[in-house]
Amino acid sequence: MTARAAVLVATLLVASTAGAQAEAKPTPQRVHCVCDISQEFTFYMDGRFFRQYLEGHGEDARNWGSLAELDLANTNLLVLAGGDRRLPYSDASLRTVDAFLAGGGAVLVLLDGKDSPGNAILRRHGAASTDVDAGTKPHSTKTLQVLVGANNVAIENRPGNLLEVDLEWSGLVTDQGGRPLLAQRAVGKGRLLASSRGLFGSNPDASDPINAAWITPLLLHATQSKSVDAKRAHSSTWAEDTQQLGPLTLEYHDGTAPFAAAIAKEYELVRPHLVAITGVEPAAGMIKKLLVLPTGGGGFSSGERIAIGAWWGDYPSNRYAMIELIGHEAGHSWVLPYPEPLWNEPIATYLGIQVGLRLGMKEAQETLDRQIKQARRHDPKFDRQNALADDAHRDLVWGKSYFVFDELERRHGPGALAKYFRTKREVLQPGRDSYSFDDLVAVWSRAVDKDLFPWFQSLAFDVKPERTNVPLTR
Ligand SMILES: [Zn+2]
Repeated sequence: MTARAAVLVATLLVASTAGAQAEAKPTPQRVHCVCDISQEFTFYMDGRFFRQYLEGHGEDARNWGSLAELDLANTNLLVLAGGDRRLPYSDASLRTVDAFLAGGGAVLVLLDGKDSPGNAILRRHGAASTDVDAGTKPHSTKTLQVLVGANNVAIENRPGNLLEVDLEWSGLVTDQGGRPLLAQRAVGKGRLLASSRGLFGSNPDASDPINAAWITPLLLHATQSKSVDAKRAHSSTWAEDTQQLGPLTLEYHDGTAPFAAAIAKEYELVRPHLVAITGVEPAAGMIKKLLVLPTGGGGFSSGERIAIGAWWGDYPSNRYAMIELIGHEAGHSWVLPYPEPLWNEPIATYLGIQVGLRLGMKEAQETLDRQIKQARRHDPKFDRQNALADDAHRDLVWGKSYFVFDELERRHGPGALAKYFRTKREVLQPGRDSYSFDDLVAVWSRAVDKDLFPWFQSLAFDVKPERTNVPLTR
C-alpha cells in the first residue's frame, strides 16, 4: 500500500466512525459490566475493573458462580480471566459466552500463554495466546486510533505474550513486527476482544500503567451493539452450590466442586485442633461460611465467611500449606471481635502452624524456626528492637511474635494460649471499642496470674500498665 492510499483508508475509517458516533450521540453509551471471578479469583473481585475503566458509564457486577448459569440478558460487557489449568472452561460455559456474543455483547479475554484455559474461547473464533514475549515496545495501530478517536495513542505496559490470530481479527496493539498483543473481531452481533494481561496492569493498586486513557473509549465502542436497561437489576451472582457441614455452609460452583469436598475434609480436621489450642469455640456469629476460591493465591476472612484458595501451595501435592492457610483464615474467627494489636496476622498463622505441629507435619516446625531465625537477624536476643515501632521490620514483627508465643507457652504452659483466649473472652465485654497492646499484656498477665509488663518491657516492647483499664489480677 502506498503512503497516500494508507492515508485515504485511515480517513475513510475516521469518516465512517465519526458518522456512527454522531448517530449514537443522543444517549451516552451505558455499560453493564460483569467481571468473572469463577474461573480465576483475581484482584478484580472487588469491582476494581469497573472503577478503573468505566466509572460513570454504567454499572458493575461480578460472577462467582458457574459461568454456564449466568444470566447475561441485561449485560453488555463480560470480562474473563485466562484461568487456571486445573479449571478448564466447561463446554456449557463456552456456549454461554458464544450466545452472549451472538446477541451483541462484548467479551474481553485477558490472558498470557498457550496453556491458559481462556484460549478455549478464542480458538473457537480463530485466535490464541502464544508463549512468545512481545519483546519490543508495543504500539497502537491505525484501527485503534480510529476506534478511540485519537492520533497518538501511547501504549504503556509490562509487555506480555503475543497473540496468534486469523484474518477475521484486527490488531489494535502490536509489537514492532506488527504481531498483535490486543486484537478484536466481530462475532455475531457482538465483539470479541483478546488481550495480553499486561496491557491492563498487574498491580492491584494500579501503580503500574493500566492504559485507561484509551481502554475506556475502546470498551465504550465495543459495547455499542447491545443496549442495556438502566432500570432493571444487573446484580452480582454468587457461587450457586452449597453443602451443610454442621454449622458451616460450604460454598462453591460446579467447577470448584471437586476441590470443595477435599477442603471441607481438611477444615473438619483442623477445627477441633483450633478449639483445643485456643480453649474456646469461635467467637459468636463468626465462621458460618467457607467459600472455595479458584486460585492458588491464598484466601481471605471476613470473620463470618472465610475463603480458601482451592490449590493454595500446590494443594493437594503439598498438604501442610493448606492446613496452615485454613488454620490462619479460621483463626481470625477465634480472635474477633477484638483483633490482636500488632500481631493479628502472625497469631493467625501461628495457630495454623500449631495445628500442623499437632498433626505431626515437619513443615510446621520448619516454618516456625525459619521465621524466628529471620527475626533474629534484626534483633539477635530479642531485647533491643521495639516491635511496636512504626518502622519495625516485617520479619522482626513476625518472628518476634512467634518467639513470644513459644516463650509464653514454655514459661506458663501447658495451654498458655488457651488461658489467654479464655481470659480475653471473659474480660473484653461487648461495647468495648478498642484493644491496645497494653490491654493485651494485661489480659496475658491475668491469664497466667503474673504481671508480665516487666517481661514484655525486657523484650523492648513499649508497654505500660498505667495505659490499660484491664485489671492485671482476678
Ligand atoms: Zn489473615
